[in-house]
Amino acid sequence: MNDWLDIQSDPLHTKREREKARELRNSDWWKNLLAQGVCHYCQGKFPPEELTMDHIVPVARGGKSTRGNIVACCKECNNRKKYLTPAEMIMFELEAKEKAAQKNAEEE
Ligand SMILES: [Zn+2]
Repeated sequence: MNDWLDIQSDPLHTKREREKARELRNSDWWKNLLAQGVCHYCQGKFPPEELTMDHIVPVARGGKSTRGNIVACCKECNNRKKYLTPAEMIMFELEAKEKAAQKNAEEE
């Protein structure tokens, strides 16, 4: 269950997932997320141009470009995430994953 904790530095994986992220950026699903304008982490409301695409588990750490792992987040949260220690990062990812799971459950 903790497969996402494995540190992967497979360049092919990174290339493939970055390409998938680019495709997702053009999808209706992503446009819809931007239109909702809610940051996944702080739940704040933002105009679409202030939101960025974020991988909950970064691609460089083995994260995938799937809808479950990609969220819209504001620049502030994106920056905050960058400066977390590895332990804080894991907590941050766990919380984000939990929120994503709750959101998926609500949508069903
Ligand atoms: Zn935010």
